[in-house]
Amino acid sequence: MSPFKQESHKLLVIPGPIEVTDEVLYANAHPSMSHMAAEFVPVFGDCIRMTREVLYSTTAQPFIISGSGTLGWDQVSANLVEPGEHVLVLNSGYFGDSFAECLKVYGANVDEIRAPFGTAPTFVEVEKALSAKKYKLVAFTHVDTSTGVLSDAKGIAETVKRVSPETLVVADAVCSVASEEIRMDDWGLDVVMTASQKGLGTPPGLSILVASQKAIKVFENRSSPPTSYYASWKKWLPIMQNYEKGSAAYFATPPVNLIYAYNASLTQIMKQSPSLEERFKLHKEASRRVKEAGAAIGLKQLPQDPAFAANGMTALYLPEGVAASDLIPRLLKRGVVVAGGLHKDHKDKYFRIGHMGVSVVDKSRGDVDKVIAALQESVADALASKKTAPLSEPKREHHEKLARSIGAARL
Ligand SMILES: *Cc1c(COP(=O)(O)O)cnc(C)c1O
Repeated sequence: MSPFKQESHKLLVIPGPIEVTDEVLYANAHPSMSHMAAEFVPVFGDCIRMTREVLYSTTAQPFIISGSGTLGWDQVSANLVEPGEHVLVLNSGYFGDSFAECLKVYGANVDEIRAPFGTAPTFVEVEKALSAKKYKLVAFTHVDTSTGVLSDAKGIAETVKRVSPETLVVADAVCSVASEEIRMDDWGLDVVMTASQKGLGTPPGLSILVASQKAIKVFENRSSPPTSYYASWKKWLPIMQNYEKGSAAYFATPPVNLIYAYNASLTQIMKQSPSLEERFKLHKEASRRVKEAGAAIGLKQLPQDPAFAANGMTALYLPEGVAASDLIPRLLKRGVVVAGGLHKDHKDKYFRIGHMGVSVVDKSRGDVDKVIAALQESVADALASKKTAPLSEPKREHHEKLARSIGAARL
């Protein structure tokens, strides 16, 4: 138990940053430490080891660097691709666009398979593209945070290995690590990148990337130097290896306090109850509850196939006639912070709820109940506020039915 208790605050249920535990925040309040101090070395070393374990890997190389999830795209682009090389981006939303843009900045030749809104590229499309052209790497977004679409990471890796075994498989798993199962070694993923503030339950500020030994070899066999200074693995690889072996090393100052916080969160995830496997189950359960509660009040999920919906977040269409600005402030008034839409073509039509980390793992907090109750009340409220607006007869009937089903007073 932490001797520290955070101030009461609105419940943060966006798809990252997420709620963090008192233990994690207290660890962040560690007195200032030298990054070269003997006491700090095993703290960083354990972060490296536990990061590997979260992904069920025994051999992959973690990089834990000051930055945000975005820095992972730069690391991939600067270290694994040489200017002019071909890469394939499986685009399932906003974050696919950004990864492709980043790769181009570093001189990659980018082809994209762009999936229709609310879906992910299919294996057939991936196989076709890989058969037509040789790609250095294939990148995909595991959970596209703009749509809540979950890609089949295992199936994508299998397809790539079968059709083009030399091609590296890169997962943008910023919104899925620790909330969705990822078995890096078994599935044959070459890069899994994330950030501290999503499923890993730590304040923002860390780019966390794990590279397979195959990816490290590809990096070491480059014919041209990495195309970034700060993101260069030439600089960072010896630092990570040193801290893991038990000695301090310096390239650029690590965020010492944040490493203490990350260590506290990883310790809760990997060494305490519930286990990582149980955590995945709890995320599924919370996700099912939120999605069913949404369906019960007529809110349609954005992913077109519910089998490919994320377990750490939910994207729901707004009720007809209700804008995000009608709903989100009503949730806020009830102490619940959700996120608006993000996908550029549809951002005014939907909203997003995050259900990751301590909010779903520690049921005694009652976070999921609170989110569901606030959602039911806020939707009823928003619909009721529209009662003065003229509505077509079928629409009015639909609204009345909705409001009745969630126990609202008269429209
Ligand atoms: C949040 C997110 C990012 C970007 O991470 P930042 O920490 O905001 O830089 C990238 N990809 C996905 C899938 C994300 O959810």
